[in-house]
Parts: sequence; structure tokens; C-alpha cells
Amino acid sequence: MSDLPSSKESSTSQKPIATIVVVEDNELNLKLFRDLLHVYHFNVIDTKDGQLAISLIKETMPDMIIMDIQLRGISGLDIIRAIKQDESIKHIPVIAVTAFAMKNDPENIMASGCEAYVSKPISIMSFIDTVNQFLKNHHK
Ligand code: MN
Repeated sequence: MSDLPSSKESSTSQKPIATIVVVEDNELNLKLFRDLLHVYHFNVIDTKDGQLAISLIKETMPDMIIMDIQLRGISGLDIIRAIKQDESIKHIPVIAVTAFAMKNDPENIMASGCEAYVSKPISIMSFIDTVNQFLKNHHK
């Protein structure tokens, strides 16, 4: 797999290749995303508070957003809808993170306006593939 970073690459490329905002209220999942994205040299900005997501995104203007759907007090789908209705941030690709129970409801998830979704439990390689795919589309 040529696109897996080797330890050699890790020591030579220290500049983040992109900034990703992660909105996830579960500490373990958040740690998993953070650690995984760091391994692949992404700069990670995160929050557990969905209410803060929009202002954080506007402040930091990330290259991508990872959005948990089930947050405390707010639906991640509603946040994605708000992002996609906002001219200043709607261009930023959003990957929704869905609970296993929503796996059979892809139309409802995609109707929010997100570019892609991944289901928990996260498959590491397909998650990274999805991130790279939508960053590439965004930058082309
Ligand atoms: Mn959650």
C-alpha cells in the first residue's frame, strides 16, 4: 500500500497537510480520530460541543469537517444543514459519522448535504481513504 505513511515520512514531513475540525462528543471516539489524523499529519481542531461547531468552523476555516451525528442536545445533521446553507463555509467537505443503527438510512444522512459518511465502529483504512478522497476533490 503505497499511500500508507512510513516512519521515514513521519520524521521528514512535519508541516500539517490540512486542518480538520472534528465534532465528536464521545471522548474515546474523539481520541481515536485525533490520534489517527495525527499519524497522517493532519492538524486537528476538535470540540465535543455541537453548539460551538459553527463558530469554531468559521474561526478556523478548516479544510474538512468530521461531524458526529449524535451529539448532546443537537443533531449533527442539523449542524451540517446549517453549514451547507452558509455561503462562507458551505464549500468545506463534511464527513458525517453515524451510529451503527443509522447504517441503513444513507438517504437521510446524505440529504443533510454532507459529502460522505462513515459508520461506527470506524474502519481505519476506509476512513482515511474517505478523508483523502474528499480533500483531493476539494483541492483540485
Ligand atoms: Mn455522539
